[in-house]
Amino acid sequence: MTSAFELRWETAFRYARDHSPYYRESFCAFSKTPKIEDLPTTDKCLLSERNLDFLCVPTEKVVEIVTTSGTMGKPLLWMLTETDLRRLSLNECLSFQCAGLTPKDTVLVAVAMDRCFIAGLAYALGLRELGCAVVRVGPSSPALVLEMIERLRPTAIVAVPSFLRVIAEKAAESGFDLKNSPVKKAICIGEPIRETALTLNASGRAIVSNWGASIYSTYGVTELANSFCECKSGRGGHLHEEQLHVEILDDAGRPVPDGEPGEIVATTFGVEAMPLVRYRTGDCAALFREPCGCGRNTPRLGPVLGRKNQKLKLKGVSVFPSTLQAALEEAENVESFAIVARSENELSDSVEVLVHGAASVSALRELFQARLRIIPNIRHVTQAEIEALQMPPQARKRRTFVDLR
Ligand SMILES: [Zn+2]
Repeated sequence: MTSAFELRWETAFRYARDHSPYYRESFCAFSKTPKIEDLPTTDKCLLSERNLDFLCVPTEKVVEIVTTSGTMGKPLLWMLTETDLRRLSLNECLSFQCAGLTPKDTVLVAVAMDRCFIAGLAYALGLRELGCAVVRVGPSSPALVLEMIERLRPTAIVAVPSFLRVIAEKAAESGFDLKNSPVKKAICIGEPIRETALTLNASGRAIVSNWGASIYSTYGVTELANSFCECKSGRGGHLHEEQLHVEILDDAGRPVPDGEPGEIVATTFGVEAMPLVRYRTGDCAALFREPCGCGRNTPRLGPVLGRKNQKLKLKGVSVFPSTLQAALEEAENVESFAIVARSENELSDSVEVLVHGAASVSALRELFQARLRIIPNIRHVTQAEIEALQMPPQARKRRTFVDLR
């Protein structure tokens, strides 16, 4: 008997082979549908080089064009048909249902709707599909968010964690009682709110305590037009299997056991304009398959640990900068920090943690030993030195990880 997965895979394989110039070339040796694991992977470099060779439809069928970061100096173009927008709406609707939203909710979307991003559009479509009232407050005015909380009494918000913290600061300054506001759910995008062990990190705990709300992490990839959202159990984001197949692979392209981190590699189902087969996202996370406390049996994706190319090799141990950052954010008496990675040799990187604040080197060494089982070099520097590293001339974003490898 053919399983639901096999049917979806067969359809996706044939469609890509017959309609995409890139896959026609790549899959020409297969007259029958091969096992998914037998096919080559693609990655963002390939997508950037052959961007429009992935397009399966004539341009008159395209109704939406978004962009995401590319590898050739220009953003990657990503196109969607009406069918793809329907799939995207359904995906986000399922994701918001995971977070327990219903048509009774009024939801603030504090995410960019423009600048060619897919995210804001996807959230607005998904909430509409679900029947929620959508308020597109956007990501730039904490005052507007607070005003809308007062006037509309919304029950949930979708935002980047750092913006939720900025709103909380503004509320504290202006005497606004955010903790007792009607907003009882925050759906967090773009930044982690949990540690590898799935407990809340410092940022997640600050949001819970300032907003008095439950928080749900959601992770999405533009090229997959798909997202994974946590349920009330907070044990990873649920995969919507009818739309996406996920593999977690190691550096050599072999599957890693469930619960162990590796690169997220995904195949889309039901995509019309730009379907992808075995796409290496470059993001690393673990997949969990045991049934979830919420009653769903779908696999769940744990917190994204970082980009695969940011992974550090320290004395034989693989560590993501995000793990070091999380430890430093928890540390007492650390006012600011920067993590600098250099290449030592083929097998090992050297990592130096520059710290400003009263924390002693021995206390920090203890913290790293307990949390990471390895200790980087630690050095105290001035606030000005840290700022120069975090924000070099021409930088557009503040960074705490400086990769000199
Ligand atoms: Zn669940």
